Amino acid sequence: MESLAVDYLVIGGGIAGFQAVLSLLPHGPAMLVSKGPLSSGSSYFAQGGLALPWGFTESDIESHVQDTILAGAGLCDPDAVRTIVSGGEEAFESLLRYGVPFDRDKNGQFRTTREAAHARPRIVHAGGDRTGAIILKSLADAAFRQPHFRFLSPYQLYQFRKDSEGNIQGAYFLGERDSDLLEIRAKAVILATGGAGSLFLRTTNPRFQRGDGVSVAYRAGCEIERMAYYQFHPTVLDLPGTQPFLLTEAMRGEGAYLLDSKGDRFMFKYHPEGELAPRDVVARALWIELTSDKQQQITLSVGHLPKGFVRKRFPQVYGHLKELGIDLETTPVPVRPAAHFQMGGIRTDLDGRTGIKGLWAIGEVASVRVHGANRLASNSLLEALVMGRRIVESVVSESSEHFPPKTSTTDGKKIEEMILPEFSGEESWSALKTMLWESAGIVRTIRRVRQGLDWVEENLAGTKGPVHGSRFAYANGLLASKLILQDILTSPVTGANCVLFGPEAGIVESERS
Ligand SMILES: Cc1cc2nc3c(=O)[nH]c(=O)nc-3n(C[C@H](O)[C@H](O)[C@H](O)COP(=O)(O)OP(=O)(O)OC[C@H]3O[C@@H](n4cnc5c(N)ncnc54)[C@H](O)[C@@H]3O)c2cc1C
Repeated sequence: MESLAVDYLVIGGGIAGFQAVLSLLPHGPAMLVSKGPLSSGSSYFAQGGLALPWGFTESDIESHVQDTILAGAGLCDPDAVRTIVSGGEEAFESLLRYGVPFDRDKNGQFRTTREAAHARPRIVHAGGDRTGAIILKSLADAAFRQPHFRFLSPYQLYQFRKDSEGNIQGAYFLGERDSDLLEIRAKAVILATGGAGSLFLRTTNPRFQRGDGVSVAYRAGCEIERMAYYQFHPTVLDLPGTQPFLLTEAMRGEGAYLLDSKGDRFMFKYHPEGELAPRDVVARALWIELTSDKQQQITLSVGHLPKGFVRKRFPQVYGHLKELGIDLETTPVPVRPAAHFQMGGIRTDLDGRTGIKGLWAIGEVASVRVHGANRLASNSLLEALVMGRRIVESVVSESSEHFPPKTSTTDGKKIEEMILPEFSGEESWSALKTMLWESAGIVRTIRRVRQGLDWVEENLAGTKGPVHGSRFAYANGLLASKLILQDILTSPVTGANCVLFGPEAGIVESERS
């Protein structure tokens, strides 16, 4: 087995991972290992932008904090919200230093947009609707310019390397061939592997996002929480024969309408803010409209906006639809909700500590309890950037406590000798995704959740022996699904996050036990 050593090992090449690398590089050599290219994470596809307490005064911060808490349906940790929002100004300034070309108006002032459930315009964006890719490339370029940075891909996390006291001191990775096992010894490991949206049948996430991080961390003994709170984005392209494609909420922020089959706006039936209601309210409204009448089609329409505006403001969305033969400016586009964002994950404190020495977690894989049961639009890039900076102090000061590395419990072992998960069933991603969509989708009933869990249990058969390559990814997918389903049975019931245990789903609270 090949073995490498580095001070800081970051796993995951999204905005959280690259921000962490850049923060740590001044303190020692850092390596970033990723399962795929820059476009393998959700960061690359972020369209709407980056939410900031724009103006950066105390009252601007307070307003952003309140909007986040309100959208989160009472399940946000107010300290976490205040910490993340307050870190926005420094994060933004550091992005400007890395050269991120945020969009400006003709007077040179930064443009800000309003999105759903934001009381005021505070979302900055770049390249119109290419914010994520532009930020990510700027961070990656800055990292690649550093002499002590190394990037390894494609390698998927296999398991953590633990010493005899249980401290994490590196990790093992699988390469492209099953026999390629790579050991990386490190003072500290920062996990930034993103969410699990691609475990659901309909999703906005790239296919790599299948809950690997939470699964490996769970096996290592990390506490996983709030996996029930999965966010569904309401406006995802719904055209037969095409992949789901996000139509950013910023379009509604700029005035786009949601129309029913008759061409009428219907969102005011559900919320006084209409199309700008919190994301979960809009997703649930679409679900109700679409399922109560099978003939119903919901479209997103921008035809009433000034000609040329949408093409310029949302070039990525406009271009994508053009390739499909649709002129967005004249044709309403059919939309339907899809799985989008993991609010829960590996429980951490506000410095990203996981509870296991040597391991930190940040970004979508982590649960720092900032998003509650429903993330406020454009707050996740903010979280990834702020946490990628905040971890530095604790990582640098605490990682040396258990270094140089002691002998690992896995030292000298071959891959076959490592205890890894096995599953007995056939590998079928489409069966898994269909099961999760039906049992943990927008509407959940106890019966469906239990059926889903039974299905997962049948396929997961304990920890029997080594699994490699794609079967390993599948075992992770099963475990992450199980964590989502189990959490639904025990999490507080909330209208947010589209969890409908109430009369609307024909299920009463007492049936949960
Ligand atoms: C279409 C879309 C639009 C969005 N728009 C916005 C927006 O406008 N504003 C906003 O705030 N948020 C938005 N989000 C959410 C936001 O993009 C993500 O929450 C955020 O970018 C997550 O960043 P991350 O660095 O934690 O993870 P990611 O960017 O998802 O990166 C994860 C990385 O981990 C790697 N990885 C995964 N598994 C493994 C493994 N087993 N081993 C090694 N590496 C692994 C992947 O290859 C990838 O490099 C959007 C999401 C999507 C999908």
